[in-house]
Order: sequence, then structure tokens, then C-alpha cells
Amino acid sequence: MTDRLYYQDSYLREFRACVVDASPEQQRIYLDRTAFYPASGGQPFDTGKLGGVDVIDVVDEDGRIAHVMSAPLAAGEVAGVIDWRRRFDHMQQHTGQHLLSAVLVELFDAPTVSFHLGAESSTIDVARPLEAGQIRAAERRANEIVFENRPVSVSYRHSSEELGLRKPTEREGEVRIISIQDLDRSACGGTHVRATGEIGPILIRKLDRIRGNLRIEFLCGLRAVERARSDFEALSTVARTFSSPLDDAPSLVEAQRERLLEVERAHRRLAAELAQARGRELYTNTAASPDGIRRIVRRVATLSDDLRVEAQSFTAGAKAVFLAVGDDPPALMLAASADCGVHAGNLLKSALTTAGGRGGGSAAMAQGSVPSNTLLEEVSRTLAASLGAERLSQDA
Ligand SMILES: [Zn+2]
Repeated sequence: MTDRLYYQDSYLREFRACVVDASPEQQRIYLDRTAFYPASGGQPFDTGKLGGVDVIDVVDEDGRIAHVMSAPLAAGEVAGVIDWRRRFDHMQQHTGQHLLSAVLVELFDAPTVSFHLGAESSTIDVARPLEAGQIRAAERRANEIVFENRPVSVSYRHSSEELGLRKPTEREGEVRIISIQDLDRSACGGTHVRATGEIGPILIRKLDRIRGNLRIEFLCGLRAVERARSDFEALSTVARTFSSPLDDAPSLVEAQRERLLEVERAHRRLAAELAQARGRELYTNTAASPDGIRRIVRRVATLSDDLRVEAQSFTAGAKAVFLAVGDDPPALMLAASADCGVHAGNLLKSALTTAGGRGGGSAAMAQGSVPSNTLLEEVSRTLAASLGAERLSQDA
């Protein structure tokens, strides 16, 4: 059994201990006592140094604590130093979680079902939905309790006693209880700050519905301050592009989005009108062959909706056939007027099938693709020949 010094004093940053066991390569070290917290109960492990060597992981092995080292560590007495910035940050997030979970029960009878302390932010899952106003109220109440600087204390009781815990514990025998004065009693083996004031500001951010639960993302202490600063800077960048005060930025972004949608709709309408006009113009400028049919072949980079409109406009005229060849991706479009004797769908489909392509359509309009540009040339030539078109290449 390793003596867990952090149970008695979570503010202990430096300690001395003896190596009592080690893995053969001496990179998994066991001490008689340690202040290093192993990953458990949702709180990540500590890092730091043992005998000047980096501790890169700390694992709870049923009573023994393993220190995973970046390099071999010799036996004997060693000095341990905890990375205090990391540990204190964990203590703030963890105690903040106790506080927030207690407030959610106090205000809205919303018990916490799980907790995760992440590298960027932490989350608690509650088993019932909460509205934005309730979340704001919980955040406000939690921060008020921070300002009241209530003592956070550790005590030990036996599991057979009436413990008065927020959430019943399954632990048998001695139970470690963390209390926030006049608010919360929880069974917990983690590290906590000694008074709520040390949690610092508590900021609730994202809310997600996860498997019927509500996941609440929150940050405490410097994390909350740094996040608020990043949010401010992001919003400032947006406001600067509008030369607007910060508070006006959201409504301006919304107005700009509406305007953009409007412009896009107008653009689509104009593009379609232009394609129609181009199809009509092309029809007028294309001479009919001796058989009275006007044939056109359009070579374009990519087939588009606008080209489809152009083709339909062209073949809206009498005795007209419109073939379009697109290079990227290799594809074809064939449109035919009802009186020209060509069934676009059937003709295109048979040309494509022999070349291993896919596609088809109606008598008036068909579209398809082929696997390569070499096959595209082949199918285009076959189609042009069977349509009696003289030229393949017509500029877009
Ligand atoms: Zn705890």
C-alpha cells in the first residue's frame, strides 16, 4: 500500500520518499509514500519529477501507486516535486464540479450522472433537460458561493453511519467525505481546494444533448479567464470587420447572412435567365442542316445546371439537338426537341453502355458519365457521328 500524502494535504508540492519496488527497467516506480495523484474519479494524474526524472503517468494499481518515468530511476530515497500549475488547475476544476453539481441539485433537482475533467474543459452530465435561463441561474449561484469563500473540508466516516451525501456511495468501510460548508457532502478521493474562493470564476459554456442526458461544459479559475479572453478576441475580430461595437456584431452577422442568401438567390435567377437567353441566341445563330435540324456540340470544363438550362432553351426551338461534353469529371449531356427524331435518353444510354459508362434520361434530356477522358473522347465521337454533327469542339 502506498501512503497517499495528497489525502491529508492536497497542497503538498514537494516530498521525500523511498523507492520500495520498481519494474526491471526501473521506469515503473513504487514509493512508500507519494504526493502524486493517480488518474481516478474523473481527475487526471499529476506530472512532475522524482529524483530529477520526469513523471509521465501515475497509475492506481489497487492500493499501490505506480509512477511511470521518462527514464530509469535508481533505488533509494528520492525527492518528489509535483507540477503545481497542473495540479492546482485540476483542484480548481474538480472542486468547481462539486460546487456546480450541488447547485444544480439545489436549484433544479438535476443530479450529476457523470463527470469528466479534460485538458481544455470539463463536463458534467445531468439526467434532465435544463433551459438556458436555468443554466444562467446555476452559473450565477455557483459564482456567488465562490465569492462567499466557504470552507471546503475533508473528513472520514464509516459507511455504516448516516453520511448525508449528495450521491450515495458504494464504498464500504472508511469513507472520505469532501464538504462545502452548508452546501454539499460528497464521497471523493480526489484533490480539492480549501475554500470555494480558490476555485475562481466558474464559466458555463456549451450544452449538448447526449443519450438523453444534458452535457454541461464548464471552466474554472484561469481556464475561465483565458477562455473569456479568447471569446472576446474572436468576437472583436468579427466586430472589427463590421466596424461595429461588440454587442452589435451578432445581429450584423445575421443581417449579413440574410443579405448573402438574398444575393445568392438573385444570382441564381440571373444565371438561369442568362443561360436561357444564351440557348435562344445559340438556336438563332445556328444554321439548320439540309435535313432541317440544328445541331450544336458544346465543350465545357464541367457540366452545370446552367448548361442544362441552356440546352433546354436551345431544344425548346423546333428541330434541335444539343450535345454537351464536360471534361472534369468526364460526362455528357444530350438534349433533343420532340420533333427531331432523336430520343436523348436511349441514344446516350446505348453510347455509354458500350464504353462502360452510366447514365440515361428522358427523350428530351439525358445525362451520364464515363470512367476516363479517353473514353469520353470515344463516346463523344460516336454520339456526334450518330447525331450527324460535323464538329466536336465548340467553345464554351
Ligand atoms: Zn472530489
